[in-house]
Amino acid sequence: MKIDETKCTGCGTCVPYCPAEAISLAGRKGPQPAGGRKKQNQVAVIDFDECAECGVCLRSANCPADAIYQQELVYPRSIRSLMSDVLTIAPESQISGRGTEEMKTNEVTGRFPRGVAGLAIEVGRPITGTRLRDVEKIAMAVAALNVEFEKINPTTSMMSDIKTGKFKDELLNEKVLSAIIEFCVRVEQLPELFGILKTVEKQIDSVFSLDVACRLNPDGSNPTQSYIASAGLWVAPNGKTNVGLGRPLIQEGLSK
Ligand code: SF4
Ligand code: SF4
Repeated sequence: MKIDETKCTGCGTCVPYCPAEAISLAGRKGPQPAGGRKKQNQVAVIDFDECAECGVCLRSANCPADAIYQQELVYPRSIRSLMSDVLTIAPESQISGRGTEEMKTNEVTGRFPRGVAGLAIEVGRPITGTRLRDVEKIAMAVAALNVEFEKINPTTSMMSDIKTGKFKDELLNEKVLSAIIEFCVRVEQLPELFGILKTVEKQIDSVFSLDVACRLNPDGSNPTQSYIASAGLWVAPNGKTNVGLGRPLIQEGLSK
């Protein structure tokens, strides 16, 4: 995103809208905005390297001078918008957002049969954000478990090698508000996964949360809960009951 300094009056309205804290007011060095009645000493500037191209300032700050504008987004910078702007549709998943619908519903492909846990590692948060090199570090660490990264997740499409979790080199310095790594493991692999994540969390300059999705046991108990508790992790349970309104689950036994 960019700001036309010849229009900006330095009112400061846009500054608090930025979830990347990339907009600030600075002393004006260039010409005064056209049509202004009084001298404007300040101008808003965007730290281009920190901007995640989320589009919030353009859509929400309602700039009174119409000074905020979207410059042409060219790859690899366009990835910032893909991962940070909630209105951008990911070509892989055909939905806005960074994960896949099936992660939440499990109703089309039955991606998580019994005995399998679906993992979504959500790296970065508004304000914190993340560079993709940190997302790569986490992906490469969990790849040691021979996981298969979810193919229609946009984060997977950024990998040059989906076996090792290596990202395309040109993307590593791109900043996004967050990215989600999706894959499955056998439930009994969870302790090893948690150990890997506890190690890699010390190596990144961001934050992440972990979503663990599974089907409940026939008696209603959660097959992942004891593993999570043993790892000393805090849980915020979140349930969803599918009643067959979507397409039917793949038949148990046919799913891998
Ligand atoms: S809202 Fe518009 S005029 Fe006000 S500081 Fe931001 S860019 Fe400048
Ligand atoms: S596009 Fe988003 S990250 Fe960039 S300056 Fe605007 S609000 Fe901040």
